[in-house]
Amino acid sequence: MAFTEQFDVLVVGAGHAGCEAAMAAARMGLRTALFTLNLDLIAQMSCNPAIGGIAKGHLVREVDALGGVMGEVADAVGIQFRLLNTSRGPAVWSPRAQCDKALYRVKMREVLEGQPNLFIKQAEVVDVVLEDIADGARRITGIRLRDSRIVHAGAVVITTGTFLNGLIHCGEERYTAGRSGEPASVLLGEALKRLGLRECRLKTGTPPRLDGRTIDWSRFDEQPGDADPTPFSFRTKTVPQLRQVSCHIAYTTPETLEIIRQNVHRSAMYSGQIEGIGPRYCPSIEDKIVKFPDKTQHQFFLEPEGLNTHEVYINGMSTSLPMEVQAAMVHSIPGLEMAEMLRPGYAIEYDAIDPTELDRSLKVKSIDGLYLAGQINGTSGYEEAACQGLMAGINAALKVKGEAPFWLDRADGYTGILIDDLISKGTNEPYRMFTSRAEFRLHLRIDNADRRLTPKGRTLGLIGDEAWADYEAKQARMVALEKLLATERLREGENKGQTLAQLLKRPEVTIDQLLPLFQDKLREDDRFAAMTAGLRDEALPSWVRNELKSVETEIKFSGYLDQQRRNIEKLKKAEERSIPEWFDYTQVSGLSREMKEKLGRVRPATIGQASRIPGVTPAAVSLINIYIEIQGRKQAV
Ligand SMILES: Cc1cc2nc3c(=O)[nH]c(=O)nc-3n(C[C@H](O)[C@H](O)[C@H](O)COP(=O)(O)OP(=O)(O)OC[C@H]3O[C@@H](n4cnc5c(N)ncnc54)[C@H](O)[C@@H]3O)c2cc1C
Repeated sequence: MAFTEQFDVLVVGAGHAGCEAAMAAARMGLRTALFTLNLDLIAQMSCNPAIGGIAKGHLVREVDALGGVMGEVADAVGIQFRLLNTSRGPAVWSPRAQCDKALYRVKMREVLEGQPNLFIKQAEVVDVVLEDIADGARRITGIRLRDSRIVHAGAVVITTGTFLNGLIHCGEERYTAGRSGEPASVLLGEALKRLGLRECRLKTGTPPRLDGRTIDWSRFDEQPGDADPTPFSFRTKTVPQLRQVSCHIAYTTPETLEIIRQNVHRSAMYSGQIEGIGPRYCPSIEDKIVKFPDKTQHQFFLEPEGLNTHEVYINGMSTSLPMEVQAAMVHSIPGLEMAEMLRPGYAIEYDAIDPTELDRSLKVKSIDGLYLAGQINGTSGYEEAACQGLMAGINAALKVKGEAPFWLDRADGYTGILIDDLISKGTNEPYRMFTSRAEFRLHLRIDNADRRLTPKGRTLGLIGDEAWADYEAKQARMVALEKLLATERLREGENKGQTLAQLLKRPEVTIDQLLPLFQDKLREDDRFAAMTAGLRDEALPSWVRNELKSVETEIKFSGYLDQQRRNIEKLKKAEERSIPEWFDYTQVSGLSREMKEKLGRVRPATIGQASRIPGVTPAAVSLINIYIEIQGRKQAV
């Protein structure tokens, strides 16, 4: 008699997607189990020891604003914080932190183990348990473990990352693995193939790691973190919480490039040995040499993997060249002549599921109760995985609670853009987020992610009372500050009579410069008590500076923001026009066969989504609109 267990929600895989999914479901009150291959590697950072970065920092802020945990964990174990892109407009400012990789795992496990309703378990999941429901539709009822146990649940989230039929390549050597040192998920990979879902084969890679004691650090330029770090989480009161360290900037030499050129045919990618398609935006060093032959120098960064290790990550030197070539490559760089390699770089190819198989809630359209999140959906990146995991966990919980699904659209956040891109366009290479993927960048800044998403997280039950009270106090302060700046006028000088808000619209004027003109007013208003305490410090605390900057941005860019709000209204209208599940594209005359096939495969939920499917023209969209009426009348008869 097989041993069975019952939960409300099951999550497979304790990576960056799985941890968010499990936390969300448990926080929403569902009895949740998180199964993973190795409990000691929960939230393992497979590659670079950093969270955030260009656009990725936006995703971390959104995960945090909705009630996810990646931001708080990264703040707790950050060892170097930098706010990127500050030379450009506030729409593209992105927080990034080097993290202590080992402490990231420890902290995330601590958060998971501290969560009521959540049970973490070590086991290999080898199959899904389905039952047929009406008209050939199927529902998932549980999972089967390698030790034959069956575990039942009302909803299952699979987040197996790069493990499904994972195959590592290092030069001419290749062997199955989910990541270096961890087994591939072959049985589950085969089980998912049996579901008949469309799949693709993708690849990613990682650089060698070095022993920092064998590096001559004097040969490299130091890159320290920001003097006043910007945290990820809206709930973090202070950063940093650990000793801070620097990264170092390095460059290839002509000898490095020559070594690579002489051996590129031995790289898995160029020997034809690998079939998976690699991440265009995270190229290997050999990719860079081949694609940019005229570039004489490539920059890379030496990043510490943690405070209690000498291990150093070479960011920008991902490779699948043979070991001896990697060693020669590294030793050709001044300062690394004697460097000891702790781990070789390698490439990994793995199965991913075509994300057009999913709907906006990340549910597999053809299997009720089954959700997918993370790298399994064709993305690359801890942050891209985390936001999907959060959304999938929320929707798995809502499914079990019998409530309507939750999704975000392209105007709500980068999370909505990522999911809409995946389910509407699919992906034939690992998808990573960029700010250029957003139509409404100025509206989707890191500083207002809480205003866009925290009320939604509160409704879902993911934002606690203390965080909610802080959020409401902050919003009250910002509204009061905007009103004060709009009414406070200059009493003398050439700009006499102008309001501070009018002054602030000038490109050269900053809110910090105007602060002496209104800080007394703040001191008279209790709502600013916490803020004015900070005004006494010669350097504004980062949270005060960030709130002032946020108000400054709203005022400076109010014209553009109003224009974007009008365009957002148009998008929302198109998103409100849903396409019924019964709609039959084959009956729409005037659509090409190829378009009928693509629309029938993607099955967009709305007219808006249909219009974003590559190749679907405005004419096709208006035909669909007309035929919704025509087919609707036939349905009514
Ligand atoms: C070599 C390599 C290089 C990478 N380079 C980068 C990079 O430079 N930057 C970047 O942002 N991202 C990089 N990534 C990708 C990054 O690691 C992933 O995007 C991220 O970890 C995805 O998170 P996830 O939750 O989808 O999967 P993962 O973090 O991979 O987690 C998957 C989890 O599923 C579990 N699991 C798998 N199969 C089973 C099973 N059958 N039963 C139970 N548990 C199972 C595993 O134990 C693991 O805990 C790289 C990954 C690898 C492997």
